[in-house]
Amino acid sequence: MQPGRANRARPAKAMPQPGCHATAGARPRHTCELADIVRRHGPAYRRAHRLPRSHLRVLRAIEVCRTAALGGHRESCAQCGFSRCAYNSCRNRHCPKCQAFAKAQWLEARQVELLPVPYFHNVFTLPHELNPLILCQEQNQRVVLGLLFHAAAETLLAFGRNNLGGTLGVTMVLHTWDQQLRAHFHVHCLIPGGVLSHDRTQWLPAKPKFLFPVRALSKVFRGKFLNGLRQLYVNGQLVFPAAVAAVAPLAKPAAFAALLAELRGKPWVVYSKAPFAGPEKLLGYLGQYTHRVAISNSRLIDVDDHQVRFHFRDRPAGDIRKVATLPAHEFIRRFLLHVLPEGFTRIRHYGLLAGRHKNELLPRCRQLLGADQPEPVTEKSTADWLLLLFGLDISRCPQCGHQPLQCIELAPVPCGASPRATSIPSAVKKEDTS
Ligand SMILES: [Zn+2]
Ligand SMILES: [Zn+2]
Ligand SMILES: [Zn+2]
Repeated sequence: MQPGRANRARPAKAMPQPGCHATAGARPRHTCELADIVRRHGPAYRRAHRLPRSHLRVLRAIEVCRTAALGGHRESCAQCGFSRCAYNSCRNRHCPKCQAFAKAQWLEARQVELLPVPYFHNVFTLPHELNPLILCQEQNQRVVLGLLFHAAAETLLAFGRNNLGGTLGVTMVLHTWDQQLRAHFHVHCLIPGGVLSHDRTQWLPAKPKFLFPVRALSKVFRGKFLNGLRQLYVNGQLVFPAAVAAVAPLAKPAAFAALLAELRGKPWVVYSKAPFAGPEKLLGYLGQYTHRVAISNSRLIDVDDHQVRFHFRDRPAGDIRKVATLPAHEFIRRFLLHVLPEGFTRIRHYGLLAGRHKNELLPRCRQLLGADQPEPVTEKSTADWLLLLFGLDISRCPQCGHQPLQCIELAPVPCGASPRATSIPSAVKKEDTS
């Protein structure tokens, strides 16, 4: 459970800006939130469109996040009479208000995995010709995006073996959006600069400012991805709904082969960002990618009865900050393009960092690099996190400082009704976290 008040007044920090992200922290408070848009236009949108269950669940989660509908608790001070309600969070991974804790916990767990070497950042992007195929059906989304991870990872691991002579480590994060919420499927890859030799006796470093040539990466990635896509087709794992005009003809082998040939004939985008000098700033940087949703509340300007306005960066025009205006239903449609299938993992680790290897291989790398073994991470309570992240001591009265506050559970109530106090904690609803 995450008390709702903590994140709201906290402006996002300004950080280095990657291609798919907005400038955060431009406004200190969010005058408009995604939840406002969903509450205002979601009901009509749901009536007008048949939505898959996963989309309905995300809209519902965002709508009720940190409201009486999810229950929570009331804290009161016996000394000065101060009282406040804190409602539970939806914890849905598509909700912009619910990422701070998940991100902090995830990053803390990564801290022990950092190696004292430079880190590189590569991005692998799918051509937009594939967007209709991916977006028309959840099954396609699952297998094609899974293939994106697989092809990019296999490419990097092959370059690690062939160019550096050992096993590379890779952490990958899937993003599905561009600055205007359109579909733009790409994975960000964070890569320690070096490999563990095949016989595990040496750490073989990469050059300090260069990992792999991106044009060569791009060709190998394209080959691996398209071979994988053809295999998915042959195995009958792709769906071609008759109702989707842009996709239905691909059911015919000749049309599918023509798409593959077209994609094979063009260059694919792989780019390399500047390497980092060391791991100190890496975690903060990594956090900019791992727990993002398609649009942060800090980019939203306002919503009225018809339209939504938000900031975006126009990259082709020289990275200028502009204002986009979209009809409200189009805004919701675009936001829902980025809802991933339930249970789909969007942060994955490969090579040295893969779950089955890391406990054995990372200590070995650290030993070869002459680095100390890290302290194990200690588990923290919600109260500990609030104190750490926001300097908020929830055990103390903010008015008179008296400690502890009295706390009673509030059961979930339907939207529009007043919250009622209850002493039955099990009545607190748990929402889906996917
Ligand atoms: Zn991105
Ligand atoms: Zn939420
Ligand atoms: Zn008090």
